[in-house]
Amino acid sequence: MSMPGTVLDAWTARKIGLPAGALPRREDIERYQLAMLCRTLQAAKEHSPFYARRLAGIDVLRDIARLEDVRRIPFTTESDLRDSGLSMLCVPQRDVSRIVTLQTSGSAGKPKRIYFTEADQELTVDFFHCGMRVMVDESDLVLILLPCERPGSVGDLLRRGLARGGTESIPYGPLPRDDASLDAAVLDLIRARRVSALVGGPAEIARLARGGAANGVNGASVRSVLLSTEYVSDENRRTIEECWDCKVFEHYGTTESGLGGAMACHVREGYHPREADLLFEIIDPESGRPLPDGAWGEVVFTTLTRRAMPFIRYRIGDVGRWLPAPCGCGSALKRLDRIGDRAAVKKRPGA
Ligand SMILES: [Zn+2]
Repeated sequence: MSMPGTVLDAWTARKIGLPAGALPRREDIERYQLAMLCRTLQAAKEHSPFYARRLAGIDVLRDIARLEDVRRIPFTTESDLRDSGLSMLCVPQRDVSRIVTLQTSGSAGKPKRIYFTEADQELTVDFFHCGMRVMVDESDLVLILLPCERPGSVGDLLRRGLARGGTESIPYGPLPRDDASLDAAVLDLIRARRVSALVGGPAEIARLARGGAANGVNGASVRSVLLSTEYVSDENRRTIEECWDCKVFEHYGTTESGLGGAMACHVREGYHPREADLLFEIIDPESGRPLPDGAWGEVVFTTLTRRAMPFIRYRIGDVGRWLPAPCGCGSALKRLDRIGDRAAVKKRPGA
């Protein structure tokens, strides 16, 4: 396995165009982010009716000279996405290869629709390919307990990313949340195929680990688990690590961020953002102003490389903070604390 802590640095270096073998410095990353931010703003103003209106007051060349100038740009919100989703598109509809529809609780249940081109999906496959090298290599067999059936589903993109690194996977699909009827069959599969890594929801995998321990199936082949999709409680994490004597990794991502948004390194204290594709900010949810490192606030991100539907200063509603101390892995990437340890900032007035 390559140096685990620097897998994401190596990926970032390649994405931002550094020579082979070079690792990125903070200033390299930020120079690239500024250039990509400007490019994203220009394209959005030019091709999307929604952003043409929303960004009418921003002259990119004049107003965005430093990365901090991102603060001059208006936010977008979930209600923008619900109400104006199609007019956020920056490509002709024939170039859209996947649309993800998410139900929301707001605005009489109007769904959110998020659009991706083939190239947008490739960004995710590439990130999965590199990000998963933190926890698996060619010798692993990964059981994917996420939706896998449709081309472009999260499990399908993960399978493709893993295959690119020579890692075999079993796209199984999600386990039912409140129904353990498939658990015995999955535990048999883990034992029979000597599955060494799992990806899935924390509650379901904790239930599997407990069930296996109760029935004398010790999951000895399992080395690592990536917990996905929701808040991970300490209890679920401990249960999985203790029952299977394995390492639990966490990540943060949403459909809007193109799934993978940040990934744990081998230190497993918080996670490093996918900074070559995403610009994250932590803001005060009341004032909208940036918060200093260490302070809890609302997570905001801007997509830097997406074509179909860029998200510009998108207020996702999750609560997060920057961990101020450098990570023990030596990465030049910033580090987010675990998202979800605090209640989400949902239902703000006007959001
Ligand atoms: Zn690290």
